[in-house]
Amino acid sequence: MKALIIENSRLYRQLLDNILGQQGFENDITDEISVAKDHLHNNEYDIICLNENLKDGSGMELISYCKNHPQLKHMPILLFSSDDDIQDKYDLEVEGIIYKHNLQQISDQIINFLETRLDPLFSEGRILLIEDSDSLAQLILGALQTTGYRVEHFFSADKAWEDFIDEVSYGSDQQAYDLVITDINVEGELNGLQLTHLIRNLEDARGFIPIIAITAQTDAELRLSLYQAGISDFIPKPILIDEMLVRVSNLITNKRLLDKVHDQRRELYNLATTDKLTGCHNRHSLMDFSQKFISQAIRHHYPICILVIDLDHFKAINDTHGHATGDDVLQATGQLLNSSFREGDMVARFGGEEFVVLLNHCAQSDGLLIAEKFRADLEALKPVNLTVTASIGLTWLESNQQHDFEALFAAADKGVYEAKENGRNQVRQVSP
Ligand SMILES: [Mg+2]
Repeated sequence: MKALIIENSRLYRQLLDNILGQQGFENDITDEISVAKDHLHNNEYDIICLNENLKDGSGMELISYCKNHPQLKHMPILLFSSDDDIQDKYDLEVEGIIYKHNLQQISDQIINFLETRLDPLFSEGRILLIEDSDSLAQLILGALQTTGYRVEHFFSADKAWEDFIDEVSYGSDQQAYDLVITDINVEGELNGLQLTHLIRNLEDARGFIPIIAITAQTDAELRLSLYQAGISDFIPKPILIDEMLVRVSNLITNKRLLDKVHDQRRELYNLATTDKLTGCHNRHSLMDFSQKFISQAIRHHYPICILVIDLDHFKAINDTHGHATGDDVLQATGQLLNSSFREGDMVARFGGEEFVVLLNHCAQSDGLLIAEKFRADLEALKPVNLTVTASIGLTWLESNQQHDFEALFAAADKGVYEAKENGRNQVRQVSP
């Protein structure tokens, strides 16, 4: 990404060069409008950082030069000013203003601008529009699509609700809706207020989607009931399109920031609970989850099984073929494990070449079949052209028994020991 810094203060030139450099920008720097114009005609910039006052004139002059130039008008401008009233003084067509009051805050403000304004993710989104007036719907659709939003339009709230409920993706998923814009009086049974209630009553993340209500009815009572139902914003008709676009962009930006936080939290959770090499759960999350898994089975009286799986001669694989090959074997085993068991079962790497599988709603006899199938699949897998087998210990908890994870693990681990003693590459059952 490329940035043009036009700044007359050496301190700020250096500061901006550092901050943008750290964000991966390649910077061209000047303090003169004439030089800046040369740069602009010879390069494509992802951002222009411009100070209000320059050596050879005012930054305002360069803003209007860019905004009136067909090749330059799309380049985002971030204006730096020490004048709090600058926005009142000039009709500024800039994407952002940073006030030079607090040097410490400048870096955060620039990074926030880059994250929200330059990230294409923030300037696009999927919108569900419900409006029964075709002419108004076309007007709104046109403005939103020109701005870059993907819009699904419905004349009736019933049909819109059906479509919304069918769309299971949410959050930052490309397919997920990011905003609902609904008229109140529309075709069909449902009206916009009822649709808002339905959406807000959803128990998954789709229920938090921002909702804008649009209506010619502006009485305070209706507005209050719409906000109580959970709308995020209200736009009276006749609609000012530019104002609507700003409100849409604000709501989608906030939703995107929330999506980003959720994604980061989910990523952190996965990092904390997943074994990086094999993609299985790690020992920490096994210890955390296994007790809940067992007490659930005891409380609801259903059987479970536990497998301990230990690769055979793994030390010899490492010693003979090297640790990189050993890692390849573990990775391939992890992939096979993750694709061999059902939703609701848990696969974890206990450590080294030892894995644990918690089989949910599984009787001893089924556990044996499942373990045997895995043993055979692994033997046939031949990762990095090596024949890899495992010794497997199986234990179980009948629906009327009570044992904790330690006892069950010890029993299955004993099964591994017996399998190794008895020639490896086999399943041994040990009752807890
Ligand atoms: Mg209507």
